[in-house]
Amino acid sequence: MTTIDPAVTAVEDPVCHMKLDEHTVKFKSEYEGETYYFCSLACKKKFDEDPGKYIKAYPMKENT
Ligand SMILES: [Zn+2]
Repeated sequence: MTTIDPAVTAVEDPVCHMKLDEHTVKFKSEYEGETYYFCSLACKKKFDEDPGKYIKAYPMKENT
């Protein structure tokens, strides 16, 4: 009953690449319509300072 499917709930911190559960993660940022999740305030701050740096190395969208 409490089984969580990691394929559905897992998100990745774009700064340190830690796997996170999107239902419990406390730190989030929105950038260009996408929501990004962070393990810590430190990672969120790094992302907020220069989002493009982390998004480039973290292809979430299809890039055709
Ligand atoms: Zn992190």
